[in-house]
Amino acid sequence: MAFQLPELPYAFDALEPHIDARTMEIHYGKHHAGYTNKLNAAIEGSDLEKMKIEDILANVSTHPTGVRNNGGGFYNHSLFWSIMSPDGGGEPSSRMNIHKAIERDFGSFESFKDEFAKAAATRFGSGWAWLCVDSNDKLFVCSTANQDNPLMDVVDADGTPILGLDVWEHAYYLNYQNRRPDYINAFFNVVNWDAVTKRYNDANPGASDL
Ligand code: MN
Repeated sequence: MAFQLPELPYAFDALEPHIDARTMEIHYGKHHAGYTNKLNAAIEGSDLEKMKIEDILANVSTHPTGVRNNGGGFYNHSLFWSIMSPDGGGEPSSRMNIHKAIERDFGSFESFKDEFAKAAATRFGSGWAWLCVDSNDKLFVCSTANQDNPLMDVVDADGTPILGLDVWEHAYYLNYQNRRPDYINAFFNVVNWDAVTKRYNDANPGASDL
């Protein structure tokens, strides 16, 4: 099997009360598992089985739609679990490169948070909000539809996602119903800034935290 569902790095109830256990159980065990299985079915017997998911997504326009939808779903959810933690929340420490980069590119953490929350709230229908690094190592916020992301050659925004928020209704409806802004606010209580700054440093060869 080419791609494997990554282990969830915490228990289903670990992010409560911000994200409830039942949502996590279904989201990970049904939705993410489903994208992973369908991605594997879509690429079975092809050369894509031996490729990194990032490289598949970079040329996704040349592959069937099932690879775009399920490859995106596989990658996006793998990132999503990794950038949350029961010990997360607050602001990145001033020792982290991501702290300096956010102040440099957004003016302040609050300005970044407002822009990200707005991108998440105004994405019509299903999709994701992202914090990304562009090819000049500058941070930017964007949103994408469905299971697209900024690694894909079919997406206008071009960058490496380092933080993402799933705003599909399956991500929040059991606990928040139609109150997407409440879910977005709650998300900021579980953001794992250690993981985000690591992704930022990995996207910037040569960068490292103080
Ligand atoms: Mn989802």
